[in-house]
Amino acid sequence: NTTKKTVKDYIRTIVDFPHEGILFRDVTTLFADPRGFRMCIDQLLHPYAGERIDKVVGLEARGFIIGGAIAHQLSVGFVPIRKKGKLPGKTLAQAYKLEYGEAIMEVHDDAVQPGEKVLVVDDLLATGGTAEAGIKLLEQMGADIIGCAFIIDLPDLGGRKRLEALGMDVEVLCE
Ligand code: IMP
Repeated sequence: NTTKKTVKDYIRTIVDFPHEGILFRDVTTLFADPRGFRMCIDQLLHPYAGERIDKVVGLEARGFIIGGAIAHQLSVGFVPIRKKGKLPGKTLAQAYKLEYGEAIMEVHDDAVQPGEKVLVVDDLLATGGTAEAGIKLLEQMGADIIGCAFIIDLPDLGGRKRLEALGMDVEVLCE
């Protein structure tokens, strides 16, 4: 078979996870494949060729895997945005809505300097609530967010429109 596999071909769908009726898009199969993982990182970087990026920001947890690889490729620093209670230093916190209830994302308050150009990454964009919380934290620190990049967008859930309404440039590898 000479047909070249795309990023999408490496993503597995798990039925009824984490609960009934949900189709979970599982990128561990993409990350586990040497060609798949490299293709994913290369393609995430592609739109930003020639652009200045000072830091890569990853959203917990799969955003750490791609964010770390991208930051290493660019020789820049990596900043994690984490779920509440995980970061040891002084943090800024931002609440956001979940399907049921609320969650809180945090970042170290000295992780990004005002005016630094940052790229925000995560595996999947659904409603955009998680990414929006991250964006609000970065904006509080005076970051210049040059873009938000995701492997997967679920277009029916409106995340892309939501982030674009905040003035964000959104890049995705597949829908
Ligand atoms: P949002 O806040 O509704 O956009 O949801 C996005 C967040 O939930 C991201 O951090 C994703 O990692 C996670 N997420 C939601 N659905 C899936 C899925 O099907 N596969 C992997 N991650 C998911």
